[in-house]
Amino acid sequence: MEFKSLPLSPSLLQVVAELGFEKLTPIQAQSIPLLLKGKDVIGQSKTGSGKTAAFGLPILNQLEKRLGSELPRRRETRALILCPTRELCTQVARELRKLGRRVAGLQVLILSGGQPIFPQLQALEKGAHIAVGTPGRVLDHLTRGTLDLSNATTVVLDEADRMLDMGFQEDMERILRALPKTRQLALFSATFPRTIEAMSRNYQKEPVRVTIEEPEERTPDIRQIFYETAAETKLKGVLWLLRQHPSESAIIFCNFKASVTELARTLREGGLSAGELHGDLEQADRDRVMAKFRNQSTRILVATDVAARGIDVADLDLVINYELPAQPEVYVHRIGRTGRAGKRGLAISLGTSREKSKLERIESLTGSPLSRKTLAPLANAEIDTLSQGARNDARMETLYISGGRKDKLRPGDILGALTGEAGGLQGSDIGKIEIHDRFAYVAVAKSVARVALTRLRNGRIKGRKFRIEPVA
Ligand code: AMP
Repeated sequence: MEFKSLPLSPSLLQVVAELGFEKLTPIQAQSIPLLLKGKDVIGQSKTGSGKTAAFGLPILNQLEKRLGSELPRRRETRALILCPTRELCTQVARELRKLGRRVAGLQVLILSGGQPIFPQLQALEKGAHIAVGTPGRVLDHLTRGTLDLSNATTVVLDEADRMLDMGFQEDMERILRALPKTRQLALFSATFPRTIEAMSRNYQKEPVRVTIEEPEERTPDIRQIFYETAAETKLKGVLWLLRQHPSESAIIFCNFKASVTELARTLREGGLSAGELHGDLEQADRDRVMAKFRNQSTRILVATDVAARGIDVADLDLVINYELPAQPEVYVHRIGRTGRAGKRGLAISLGTSREKSKLERIESLTGSPLSRKTLAPLANAEIDTLSQGARNDARMETLYISGGRKDKLRPGDILGALTGEAGGLQGSDIGKIEIHDRFAYVAVAKSVARVALTRLRNGRIKGRKFRIEPVA
């Protein structure tokens, strides 16, 4: 599909030709016509897919059509684009300015957190047609009354899943509620966890779904292996399996609480970062274990089925059944947590020769045979080597901050304290930020964890001192 066939203004078509864009990328071919018609779109997108132009061209086209020659004088904010990080805001704004270079008088303004607010206030006084910002700072401006969105017709949530990961959900929803009732909402995300689906249901009108996946990828692609093993080989055998099948994030299911505790201890003794989840834990402990798993400070979660209920982790690449469940439906449910978002998943099950009938019931339910292997007993020397290779495996570390929602802390405040002038860290070193009522967790890259801890302890967040602790 060529750009010429789209009902875009002559100035936009000219720029696209000057930039040497020949054909539309798949995400553009699917979303531009819909967005030009004013539809709400929910789209799967990756960076580099051309999605900025996919939502940018319709926004610019609309601006030209509605404001015409008045555009340079009427600097009202017609479009708002929310992005998770300052870097992404800059990138999106740059691309919009590039595409809009023949739209005379166009103003694109960046409102990202971790930046001084004064220049933003000055620029807002003059007005801008398009605002690109992070949720925390945009909400800040809305609350101050310095950003007027009453004329906004289009809103874009870019990398929506990352914004949710960073704890921006509440800020995003407050912004969405503050917008005019009739406005177009485009939501782009790499993955679609339940939280994103819910946001789409609550804030979009008859959204059209746009994916660039192959249709056959809709059935999850999970490789399933069954390892037959002697009961006494199982425990240490998991160390070997984890080495044999490297993964970023894995859940290991057990049928009993006692197995959870025993296995998690063995993995930790083997140098792996493993959290455990079972029914006997206090809520606060569960929250901490889950927070660390979601933000990648823990790579492996050992859990019973009941305890794992409601876990919403998008990117699991491995599920291990340490014990086969008695009901085959439970097996299907367990392994369904991997192989999402078009990625290939892996499900490994362990069982003794006496558990063949469980295996057969699973196979008759799923209609596909598991590939069968044997897990041989390991020599002690082999176990030692395995343990040594596994040290230091998690990418992130979690810091506790003794302030939360009730202290009016928002993700942007924490991000700002770490990445602003005082913090000096890169946005890419900061992971998930989870704000609870009275405390918050922030994940930081292991390589900068000590620096982050010192900076937060010595500095202030939102002008205040909080207690900061590493989370064990
Ligand atoms: P994005 O995914 O929005 O970050 O865009 C990635 C890069 O692709 C940017 O440098 C765009 O200018 C460029 N681009 C976007 N659309 C097209 C297209 N249809 N043909 C060629 N390049 C494009």
